[in-house]
Amino acid sequence: MSLVMHVDTAAWRSHQDAVLAGDRLTVPVIKGNGYGFGLERLAGEAARLTADVVAVGTAGEVAAVRAGGFTGDVVVLTPWRPGDPIVEQMLDEAAQSGSGVIMTVSRVADAQALAESRPGLRVILEVLTSMLRFGLAPQEFRHAVTACQDRLEIVGWTIHLPMTGEHLQEATDLATSAVAACRAPLWVSHLDDDELDVLRHRMPVTVRRRVGTHLWLGGTDAYRYTSSVTDVHQVSRGERVGYWQRAVPDPRGGQVVVVDGGTSHGVAMSAPTPGASVRQQLTAAAGGLLNASRLALSPFSVGGRKRFFVEPPHMQASLVWVPGGVSVAVGDEIDVTMRATTATPDAIVLE
Ligand SMILES: *Cc1c(COP(=O)(O)O)cnc(C)c1O
Repeated sequence: MSLVMHVDTAAWRSHQDAVLAGDRLTVPVIKGNGYGFGLERLAGEAARLTADVVAVGTAGEVAAVRAGGFTGDVVVLTPWRPGDPIVEQMLDEAAQSGSGVIMTVSRVADAQALAESRPGLRVILEVLTSMLRFGLAPQEFRHAVTACQDRLEIVGWTIHLPMTGEHLQEATDLATSAVAACRAPLWVSHLDDDELDVLRHRMPVTVRRRVGTHLWLGGTDAYRYTSSVTDVHQVSRGERVGYWQRAVPDPRGGQVVVVDGGTSHGVAMSAPTPGASVRQQLTAAAGGLLNASRLALSPFSVGGRKRFFVEPPHMQASLVWVPGGVSVAVGDEIDVTMRATTATPDAIVLE
């Protein structure tokens, strides 16, 4: 049996529709594992939403977005660097097929190199923010614009802000310098609705907002994960179980429940450390479990609550501890709490 993602298609789409209807300048972000839905499927949704442009993380993701049926412009968020064969191949293919690709440029030297090698390419210039990831410093804005002059078409400035804190002033200052160097649209991430409104009032250019998580995963109850029980073993005190032959954790005995889903599905990607959290340890100890400090809470719910791992998850299965007396049987479907951006289910079922 399998670890399955169930999508309530109507609920999922009505959330997407609401996000886009609220702001037609939204740029859907499609990257990584496709926020749990897959890149191609999200590309199909972006087409359904009639988005004019989407953003991908890497050059290698452009092909999946095309395969998914999106024909509009695709912005590549990872900045161009010299000599990356995957990027160059993608740009060659885009040039041959005439499909619209916009590259991000974050260094003056790269603008110069691209102007030489790919005249006519559309680019977005990236501004360095307090994230300190990549981007041009304000004193470089004019040099970058000069490097592009007449050869690369600057279609915007990108400002990628940290997730936490108040960044409206930072965004305003950077945007003001950027627009002074070249009057082009702004593409921003991680401003809330109110901040975005203020920035739009302050700036003389279009401000587009890139959205991934909120667009695809913001609809509550639009998706859930299930797994199934493959085996149940009644065990008593003193028995040893699993790869690591650990002693049964409850002196009263209980049940080792084998469930579908392991590390390859992204189960427990947030590292279930042997230490677990203090709260988890206390819960485990209060429940009469031995060696509570070695137990980690699993994402699998059996009998209405999350259960502890017997040992770290295996590649495609996990062993969880369920006290005696809790009803559980082979074939039971159980809920799993997964972080969609790191999940790789066996199947995605649109319901
Ligand atoms: C991933 C990414 C986004 C989307 O972020 P979410 O938090 O998923 O909305 C936006 N902008 C940039 C530059 C990104 O890399």
